[in-house]
Amino acid sequence: MYHDGQFDDSRLAINLAQTAIEQSATLLNYFKVTGLIKDTTNKIIGVKATDTETGAGYQLKAKTVINATGVFVDDVLKMDTPEKKPMVRPSQGVHLVLDRSFLPAEDALMIPKTEDGRVLFAVPWHEKLLIGTTDTPINSHSLEPVALDEEVDFILRTAGKYLTKAPTRADVLSVFAGLRPLAAPQDGASKTKEISRSHKLIVSASGLITITGGKWTTYRKMAEDIVDKTIEVGGLNNIPCKTASLSIHGSRPNPDRTNPMFVYGADIENVLALYKENPNWKNLVHAECSYTKGEVIWSVRNEMARTVEDILARRTRVLFLDARLAIEMAPEVAHLMAGELGKDAEWETAQVKAFNETAKNYILTPH
Ligand SMILES: Cc1cc2nc3c(=O)[nH]c(=O)nc-3n(C[C@H](O)[C@H](O)[C@H](O)COP(=O)(O)OP(=O)(O)OC[C@H]3O[C@@H](n4cnc5c(N)ncnc54)[C@H](O)[C@@H]3O)c2cc1C
Repeated sequence: MYHDGQFDDSRLAINLAQTAIEQSATLLNYFKVTGLIKDTTNKIIGVKATDTETGAGYQLKAKTVINATGVFVDDVLKMDTPEKKPMVRPSQGVHLVLDRSFLPAEDALMIPKTEDGRVLFAVPWHEKLLIGTTDTPINSHSLEPVALDEEVDFILRTAGKYLTKAPTRADVLSVFAGLRPLAAPQDGASKTKEISRSHKLIVSASGLITITGGKWTTYRKMAEDIVDKTIEVGGLNNIPCKTASLSIHGSRPNPDRTNPMFVYGADIENVLALYKENPNWKNLVHAECSYTKGEVIWSVRNEMARTVEDILARRTRVLFLDARLAIEMAPEVAHLMAGELGKDAEWETAQVKAFNETAKNYILTPH
């Protein structure tokens, strides 16, 4: 038996954002840092940022600035020191999603040694089967990385040796790629599996504090390290970091995982209360998917969802579970969101078009 946790990265990120707000943080969604503000001694005293929805620019003053932008940390470091050597070596990882019939069991499968010496997982995930991953060094980064053909072929080939039937490209419900922000090796090691997965923290001469590398598994330790460093660098009040015992928004002991809404934790009752406000919201967005219209409304009102992609990729997980189904759901999601956000039909059309453009990268074979 191999014991490991299973989690939903987007849901945890949203719940962490909600927790941060409850702990007095101010979050600016869809804001992009475009530059750093320095004083006459070259010390950082804030950032320049753009609200990407309105295009308005802002200057945000701060006692300390932390650069925690994942694979993008080098972009921000270059705003500070243009000649800075890269700190990150992005490593792409691809996952495929199949129907559960390829591994009809409650347990996951771990293949301990693949032909390139890595491990491959096949894990039951949200009623589907998630298979991955790869570890491909990438020289540039983007917000929407795309799976390479050889990565897809490798996963299908390897999984085919162990599953009840060998999956083909036509069986893939969704394919997606992510970039790991691995700390760039300083000694010339080139294989990403040989690069350390632990986090790195650096303080620039300007006072900019940068953290990268690391994993979801170690995020509380990363948070503690960065808070302690920030107190030291910024001369802030020395209040002990409390992440070790802090419950996350919505946490509830022993959630009933058979309830499709269990991911909302303590918020379930609040989501259900929306059905009283509008009985139509009790209905499903699509007959083949358990998400209700009310969940879309909930995410717009309480989870900072601003786009159709926010809902279908990062509040619900439909795009990752069945990309074609997500495309079919997009118009109804756009319509529900438009009602909440006060947007017009033109916005709905543009949202659906933009979503379809992204979603096509999650499909391997055309209809
Ligand atoms: C395929 C794959 C498998 C993985 N498996 C595991 C695993 O099993 N266990 C585990 O613990 N971890 C795993 N990880 C690692 C984990 O997902 C990452 O380490 C983690 O997501 C990094 O988080 P981050 O917040 O540092 O960066 P990101 O999640 O990349 O977040 C950085 C954020 O900064 C924002 N940003 C960038 N530039 C700017 C700017 N100029 N202004 C404003 N915002 C900006 C970006 O939009 C983004 O939202 C895996 C990663 C991948 C890709």
